[in-house]
Amino acid sequence: MAVTSHVSIKSRDSVLTLADRWPLLGQRRPLVVYLCAIVALDLAAIAALSASTVFTWRDALTFAALMGCGAVCIEASRRLGMPAGVSRDLLSAWWLPVALLLPPVYALFAPIVLQVLLQVRVRATVVYRRVFSSAAIGLAGCTASIVFHALVADPWVLSQGGSPPILCAVAAAVLFSLLNIALIAIAAHTANPDSAWREVLWDRESVMLDVVELCLGVIVSIGCSLNLGLLILALPPVVLLQRSLLHAQLQAAARTDAKTGLLNAAAWQREADTEIVRARRTGETLALLIIDIDHFKRVNDAHGHLVGDQVLVGVASMLRSQLRDYDVVGRFGGEEFVVLLPGADIDEARRVAERLRVRIGHMAIPVDDTLVRVTISAGVALMSVHGDDLIDLLTAADLALYRAKELGRDRVCIPAVQPPPPSLPNDPSTS
Ligand code: GH3
Ligand code: MG
Ligand code: MG
Repeated sequence: MAVTSHVSIKSRDSVLTLADRWPLLGQRRPLVVYLCAIVALDLAAIAALSASTVFTWRDALTFAALMGCGAVCIEASRRLGMPAGVSRDLLSAWWLPVALLLPPVYALFAPIVLQVLLQVRVRATVVYRRVFSSAAIGLAGCTASIVFHALVADPWVLSQGGSPPILCAVAAAVLFSLLNIALIAIAAHTANPDSAWREVLWDRESVMLDVVELCLGVIVSIGCSLNLGLLILALPPVVLLQRSLLHAQLQAAARTDAKTGLLNAAAWQREADTEIVRARRTGETLALLIIDIDHFKRVNDAHGHLVGDQVLVGVASMLRSQLRDYDVVGRFGGEEFVVLLPGADIDEARRVAERLRVRIGHMAIPVDDTLVRVTISAGVALMSVHGDDLIDLLTAADLALYRAKELGRDRVCIPAVQPPPPSLPNDPSTS
């Protein structure tokens, strides 16, 4: 798994996008120190192991064949395009056999080759990210390789199908995966210390993909040790898996706001509509919040747009962390966010909005030697009271937000005028 290999890893993803902006790296010294330390360690390992490794033709040929398969995989998925931000691939299927079958130094070289290919052929991203990915994968692979070679004297005995070497291969693959996740999670957490470790480390979908990568890697290793030509049989299914994975990521990316990782406006409206229809059918309560960052233009004017973007990411991640999984959170545009709270009545919606206002008000985003703070205003609307469909609810919440701004900002408002209660059919006042 690479830094380029995160799925929804919503949290891992959004925190890493923070680190994706070169100009901001200088403002995040601990992150720079960490990235440099990992790269330095990788270079030191390459120097030390290159000197002590005996290079053979068989190893070189196996390495070339596996890298060739990786290159075919990259080329075959290239035309599909790459989702913005961080994405996930199945390239471990090729560098895990390198780690298991070849001397450990090859595990340090393999990710360099494939990251260069990704950079040149797929997407030119910020170079430090590619360098860090290569180093993190390289160190994880090299460690797994050293452990496997210590447990199994001749790794090519994998071809005999005995259980102990295969179990050792699985253990080494698990170690590879865990180390890689840990190295990336530390970077993600250093980039955004406010993120919870659990969020950075745990994501059901990404764990499932780790398991798939691990299985593929071990199977390809066994096939490769039997006969290098078997790689030709392994290639098509891995390419197909890689393409379907990419397709799923592109679909997910089309729903997501690239900057914040929240739903984009169109996807949010679709999901909100579904929730509203459900609430109408079941008679459950439902509330809607519109949240707007106060005087956001001043943040941009004072610190620049990149810092403004960082504030947007911080606010988005605070919203996500403070809300329930089934609340529907989206970026409506600019510095405006929308939240649908299924099952919430007006008191609960107000409480939630207040909590968000207080939490975001206490957030401090480090920039140079100062801390940037922002406040938010929010408008709340309740289904059946302020509107019956999405448009009505948005209009009501927007009016309430407008009032919050007029009253001085940094506050939560509900619509000032409440519609009269429905009248009885023979109420004389309506005639
Ligand atoms: P108010 O309290 O009335 O909401 O004031 P405001 O300054 O927040 O509102 P205004 O609508 O005047 O300005 C919104 C600013 O948000 C202007 C625009 O440049 C900025 N903005 C919109 N989208 C982005 C973005 O993606 N990144 C950054 N950095 N700024 C953005
Ligand atoms: Mg604003
Ligand atoms: Mg606005």
